[in-house]
Amino acid sequence: MIAIDTSLAERVLDTVTDRITAAADHLTALDAAIGDGDHGINMRRGMEAIRAERAAILAAPPGAALEIAGRQIVMKVGGAAGPLFGTLLLQAGRSWPSVATRPGIAAALAAAHVAVCARGKSEPGQKTLLDVLAPVVEALGRGDGLAEVAAAAKAGAEATVPMRALRGRASFLGDRSIGHMDPGARTLQLIVEAIVDVLEGRA
Ligand code: ADP
Ligand code: MG
Repeated sequence: MIAIDTSLAERVLDTVTDRITAAADHLTALDAAIGDGDHGINMRRGMEAIRAERAAILAAPPGAALEIAGRQIVMKVGGAAGPLFGTLLLQAGRSWPSVATRPGIAAALAAAHVAVCARGKSEPGQKTLLDVLAPVVEALGRGDGLAEVAAAAKAGAEATVPMRALRGRASFLGDRSIGHMDPGARTLQLIVEAIVDVLEGRA
């Protein structure tokens, strides 16, 4: 069993929102190369919305807390990323185990992966955040350690560089989308890294 107390929830919430907010310019630059240059702005708005619900999130059990965060993202982040990252959080929250175990958390994230695929009519290999989500879910399903989970997220984001985008605005560029990292994949990698850093005592 994994103990998720308020102090851990607080550190995860603050580290993720701080790091994504700090990375906004970088994320926007990635989106400017293959999209419309708003991804960092969208995500920063989402982090502000989550912070505004900080007290309610910390007072709730983990599953409900993820659902509150997901609803904020769906409501306040526009574009493609809002519904997709929102669906990830909402489904992870709905599927969250009543007793937090590694297999239970892995299963909740696997359910979130399925929900994001359905929402985006997409699958891994199309240069989206799914190219990070899928290998992270696989690593968790195998029972890999936290370092391997973070490495899987990093490798997933890097793997989007040579891909041709098949979903989202970047797909309008066809072959010109090749050679750039997908912004949504990079955001999810940063989120995974932040959580792993908290769990390993680095943040
Ligand atoms: P928009 O494309 O509307 O400007 P953002 O720039 O905030 O929205 O988000 C773009 C990111 O959303 C992409 O980098 C990609 O990871 C993700 N994305 C877009 N469309 C899809 C889709 N159909 N399925 C999965 N992810 C997608
Ligand atoms: Mg965009």
